[in-house]
Amino acid sequence: MIEIRNISKTFHQKKQAFKALDQVSLNIDKGDIVGIIGFSGAGKSTLIRTVNLLERPDEGQIIINGKDFTQLSSKQLAEERKKIGMIFQHFNLLSSRTVFDNVALPLELDHNSKDQINKKVNELLKIVGLEDKANDYPRSLSGGQKQRVAIARALANDPYLLLCDEATSALDPVTTQSILQLLRDINQRLGITILLITHEMEVIKSVCNHVAVIDKGKLLAKGTLSEIISNRENPVIQQFINSDVMTLPQELNIRLQKEPQDGLFPLVE
Ligand code: ADP
Repeated sequence: MIEIRNISKTFHQKKQAFKALDQVSLNIDKGDIVGIIGFSGAGKSTLIRTVNLLERPDEGQIIINGKDFTQLSSKQLAEERKKIGMIFQHFNLLSSRTVFDNVALPLELDHNSKDQINKKVNELLKIVGLEDKANDYPRSLSGGQKQRVAIARALANDPYLLLCDEATSALDPVTTQSILQLLRDINQRLGITILLITHEMEVIKSVCNHVAVIDKGKLLAKGTLSEIISNRENPVIQQFINSDVMTLPQELNIRLQKEPQDGLFPLVE
C-alpha cells in the first residue's frame, strides 16, 4: 500500500550539507502498525514527513495506493493529504476553539454542511471517549485528553493512514498506554494503517507489528519485533533492545521547544 523507494534527503544549513536520509526503502502493508525507532537526529521525523510530502525528498519515490506522490502537483497533493491524518507530540490544538470546533476544523475547511459536521464530530468524540468535553477548551484538558482531540481531528476526513510523530512522548506512562490502546482500537475497528515514530522501545513493544530501525539516515533493519530482537549482530539495535527509553540529548530538547513543528495545523493562532 505504501512503498518508500530509495528516499534521500539532504539539508543545507550554514553552508554545511547534512544527509538526513540516505537511500531508505520501506514497504508498509494495509492495516499494519509500523514503528520507526531510532536515536534523536536519526532521521525519523524527516522520513515520516516525506510520506505525505511535507518534506520533499531529493531522490526516490513515495508510492501510495499506486500513486507516486513525488509526481503530484501541489493541488493534487493537498487533496491526497486529506486522507492521511497526522498527530504530533504537542497536539497542535487551537486554543481559541472548543474541543468540538477543533475536531470540526478539517470538515469546515472541506466545506461540509453544518449537519454533516455535527454528526461526524459527535461520532469522532465518541470514538475517542470525549463526548462530555465537546464544549471545553484545550486549556482545561489533560495531555491525554488533548491528544484524544488531536486524534479525533486527524480522523475527520476518514483517513486510510495515520502518521504519529512522537505522539506519546509528552505523556506519562499510564496515559501513554491509554493512547496506544486507542490507536490499536482505531487500527482494528476502522482498519486504518498506522505509521509511528518513537524513541521509546516500550511504545514499539505495546503496539507495533512491524518495526524499522533507523540510524544516521540509514535503514538498519526492518521486520517483526521478534525478528528485530533476534538480530544480535547490530550494536545499535542491541542498544535499543537493552534500553527502554532513548532520552533526548539536551540541545535537541531545547531546539524542539523553540521551533514550532509545522504540519497541517499551526501551533500558534
Ligand atoms: P529524528 O526525528 O530522528 O530525531 P530528524 O528527522 O528530525 O531526526 O532530523 C534528522 C537530522 O536532520 C537532524 O540532524 C536534524 O537536525 C536535521 N534536520 C531535520 N530537519 C531539518 C531542517 N528543516 N533543516 C536543517 N536540518 C534539519
